[in-house]
Amino acid sequence: MAEGGGSIKSFFAPIAGFGVTFKTMFKPIVTEQYPEEKVPTAPRYHGRHVLNRHADGLEKCIGCELCAWACPADAIYVEGADNTEEERFSPGERYGRVYQINYLRCIFCGLCIEACPTRALTMSNEYELADDSREDLIFTKDQLLAPLLPGMESPPHPMRLGDDEKAYYLGGGISPVAGDPNVEGRLHADRADS
Ligand code: SF4
Ligand code: SF4
Repeated sequence: MAEGGGSIKSFFAPIAGFGVTFKTMFKPIVTEQYPEEKVPTAPRYHGRHVLNRHADGLEKCIGCELCAWACPADAIYVEGADNTEEERFSPGERYGRVYQINYLRCIFCGLCIEACPTRALTMSNEYELADDSREDLIFTKDQLLAPLLPGMESPPHPMRLGDDEKAYYLGGGISPVAGDPNVEGRLHADRADS
């Protein structure tokens, strides 16, 4: 009897593997057709960084370097400088004159955005950062700065929101979420959730 069972088994052995293939033929296809079809990321996905602006276009970065000190991969380089009344880039005393993020080093942990005291630095959902040049993967301030939205003016210029600092930081009646809602707004929401 055992001998008979064994012979049936050995008879089907060469085609047993096809059973797996046959079953798989009826399963839904899960291959992502990237880059032709881009699947949306999770809402809190950590993608490339954005340096945000106030509602009048001034930069939120104050050049404090806390993001660079928080970075475990030493991927951020910042050089601060003083604002003057003739040449103002941010509403405070200082601004980030040089700002670079090295995406060859960055591990997208998000510690830098947690360290930033002004929410100047946030992360977007953008993940297409591959390149064949090491130099091009060091993003500079002009690449990281959020685009100017309607009503914003390119710095340097004086503070335009309200008559004093308090009014300015309250947004001068304009929503404090001044950046692209797809990037800055999302991170504001994240903080509110946590
Ligand atoms: S996400 Fe992490 S590794 Fe990348 S720059 Fe920020 S702190 Fe550094
Ligand atoms: S991005 Fe934020 S933490 Fe980094 S230098 Fe600017 S203000 Fe400071």
